[in-house]
Amino acid sequence: MDWQEKLNQEGLRLTHPRRVIISLLEQANIPLSPQTIHQCSLDAKEEISLVSVYRTLDLLAELGLVRRVHGHNDCQGYVLASPGHYHHLVCQHCGAAVEFSGVEDLSTLLASIELETGFKINEHLLQFSGVCPECQRRTENHDQE
Ligand SMILES: [Zn+2]
Ligand SMILES: [Zn+2]
Repeated sequence: MDWQEKLNQEGLRLTHPRRVIISLLEQANIPLSPQTIHQCSLDAKEEISLVSVYRTLDLLAELGLVRRVHGHNDCQGYVLASPGHYHHLVCQHCGAAVEFSGVEDLSTLLASIELETGFKINEHLLQFSGVCPECQRRTENHDQE
């Protein structure tokens, strides 16, 4: 993750909120909501106001450094994003979010949607939910008991 380089490229400084938010997201392997990020910043004595959290997440999302996903319990959260076309899988049990590369060929689907709606489609968000390997193992072990 060369987010520091990306910020430099954009002529943006690594301000306190940007540094704290990126490092919180780096440590978490689950999507974090703005409220959670705000709370974590308080816990870490690195307070960032909720407004500032929202503003910073918007900026980082615009730069493609974070991505919004539907997390655990349909709660929206943010994860760090790799550069390029990626999507996320989210575990329905533990909320873990995993990236996978967007190599899907949606051209047939997109063409039929454009035909049906008259839209010119420019981008898409795609996310799958399921059960991560860890949680699958846990359930299997549980069954054997
Ligand atoms: Zn899981
Ligand atoms: Zn895609």
